[in-house]
Amino acid sequence: MTPFPIDLPELLSLLKGGLIVSCQALPGEPLHGAHIMAAMARAAAAGGGVGIRANGPEDIAAIRQAVELPIIGLWKDELHGFSVRITPTVEHARKLAAAGADIIAIDATARPHPDGLPLPERIAAIHRDTNRPVLADIATLEEGLAAQQAGADLVAPTLSGYTEYSPACEEPDFGLIQQLASQLSLPVIAEGRIATPEQAARALALGAFAVVVGGAITRPQQITARFVGGLDFKNKGVLRRGGSETRPYNAINAQNYAIHPQAGLIGAVDIGGTKIAVGVVDEGGRVLARGECPTDAQRGLADGLRRITELLRQTTTQAGGRLRGIGIGCTGPVHPRLGTIGNVEFLPGWEGASLAGALSQALGVPAAIENDADAAALGEWAWGTGRGTKAFLLVTVGTGIGVGVIIDGKLYRGVDGAHPELGHHVIDPSGPGCFCGATGCWESMACGPALERWAQANHPQGRRLSARELCSLADQGDAHAQEAVQRTARYLGLGIANLVTLFAPQMIALGGGLLQSHHLFLPAIHVTVRRNCGLVPHAQVIIVPASLGADAGLAGAAQVWLSRA
Ligand SMILES: [Zn+2]
Repeated sequence: MTPFPIDLPELLSLLKGGLIVSCQALPGEPLHGAHIMAAMARAAAAGGGVGIRANGPEDIAAIRQAVELPIIGLWKDELHGFSVRITPTVEHARKLAAAGADIIAIDATARPHPDGLPLPERIAAIHRDTNRPVLADIATLEEGLAAQQAGADLVAPTLSGYTEYSPACEEPDFGLIQQLASQLSLPVIAEGRIATPEQAARALALGAFAVVVGGAITRPQQITARFVGGLDFKNKGVLRRGGSETRPYNAINAQNYAIHPQAGLIGAVDIGGTKIAVGVVDEGGRVLARGECPTDAQRGLADGLRRITELLRQTTTQAGGRLRGIGIGCTGPVHPRLGTIGNVEFLPGWEGASLAGALSQALGVPAAIENDADAAALGEWAWGTGRGTKAFLLVTVGTGIGVGVIIDGKLYRGVDGAHPELGHHVIDPSGPGCFCGATGCWESMACGPALERWAQANHPQGRRLSARELCSLADQGDAHAQEAVQRTARYLGLGIANLVTLFAPQMIALGGGLLQSHHLFLPAIHVTVRRNCGLVPHAQVIIVPASLGADAGLAGAAQVWLSRA
C-alpha cells in the first residue's frame, strides 16, 4: 500500500468542484463486503468521480488497493450510551489512517463524545497521530462555525436532519450548505440526501467545494425503492400527498388535480405598492417561472385580479406543471385567516377584498395570504439563511421597513392574527410624521426614501438621488453620500438593537433593496448592538445578510402556502 501524499492543498485541488462517491454498505445490507465496495469505487472512478467516501478500515484498505482517488474515511461505530457514530474516538481515526484514508471524517456535532475530549483537542490529536486533514460532519451552522474554530480542515453538513435538534426533511439541506459556504472560510463538502444531478449542481452553485452522493449511486435497494415509489405515485395520484382534499376549494375544480409529474408546484404572488410579481415555485423553494406587472391599484381590484390570474396561468404553463396551492405576500395589513386585505395605503380600493378567495376561485386551488414582511421571513427561514434557527427575524429595508418574526418555526402573530408592525416603532419622537400615525418611527428614519430625503435636504444635488445611487457614491468615497449613509446606518442600528433587546433572537437576517449594500450598514449596526444591548447575550445573536435575494418575495409567498397546507 502506498500512502497517498497528505498535502492538503493538493488533495483539495483533486476534489474541487467534483463528485465524491460514498461507497458504503453496512452489515446486513445486500452489498456489504470489502471486495464489493472496492468494485463500487472502481465504478465511481470510471464514471468520473473525484473521490471516495468509505466506512471502516476493511472497506478502506480494499478501496485503497482498487483506486487512486482520495479517500475520505469514516468509521460508523455504535458505542453504548452515545448517539455519535461517525469515527467516535481518536483511536478509530488512527485505524482509518493506517488503512489508507486520506481525510478523516468525524462527528463534530455538539453531542457528548465517548472520549470526552473537547473538539479542538480531538482534532489536534487526530492531526498529530495521523497527519491527516479532518472533515467535520456537522448538523447546524453553529456546529460548522465551532468546527472551523476548533481547527477542522473541511466541513460537511452530513448530519443535518440526523440529530434531534436539526430539521428533518427529504431534500438536501441547501439552506445550511449556503450558510456554511458563505460564513466559513473552510471548504464545504455538500453531503446529505443529494439524489439527483440537479441537486448536486445546485449545491455547487450555492458555494459547496465538492459534492458527496451516496445511496443514490451506490445503494441499489434505495434506487429500487425510489422507482417503486414512483410507480406508487403514478397509480395513486397526488391527492394522497397534500391532504388538500379536505379543503373546500378543491371541489370547485377537481380536474386540476389530475395526475401529473409536477403536481407539487406552488403559485406565488408578491404584491407591492409599485409592482406585482407572480411565479411558480417548487417544494424546494426554487422559482421555476416568473412574471410581473405594475400594481396600478387605481385600475381597480377586478383588473388587478385579472392580471394576476393571467400571470399565474402563464407561469404555470412555463413551469410545466399544475398548482397545488397559491401563496400570497401582500404589502400592508392583511387578515391571514379571512384572506382579505386591510386598510392599505398603497392599494386604494382594494380594502376588504378577499384576495385569497378570489384567486382560489379563479385557479381552482386553495390560497393563503400574509403580510409581505411575514411572507419573506417564512421564506428566508425555510429556504434561506434562517434555516433551522429557533428565534429568527427578517428585517427587510427598501421603500419601507418590514419585519417578520419566526419563533420555533412558526410565524409570530398578534391579536386576531395581526402582523406586528416592528418597522413602525418609534426611534426619534422629533422625527418626521409617518402614515402609520407616529412621528419618527423606524421606517420614517431609516428606509431608502428617508435616506434619499435627508441627502436631498442636506446636500442638494439638483435632483433627488436614489438610495442606490447614494450607496454607490458612498462606495466611491463621496463624503456627502457617506454622511447620509452613515446616518441611515445609525438609525438602522438603533432599530436592530431594539429588536435584539426585545427578542434576544438567534438570528436577524437583513434583506431588501437598501441592504443589498449591507457592507455599508453592517459595521454601524454591530457597533450599536454592542453598545445598546448589554442585558441580553447580544454576541450570540447572528446578524447577517439574507440569502434569497431577488427570489425572496416569490419564495416567501410560496412558503405562505406551504406553512398553511
Ligand atoms: Zn411609521
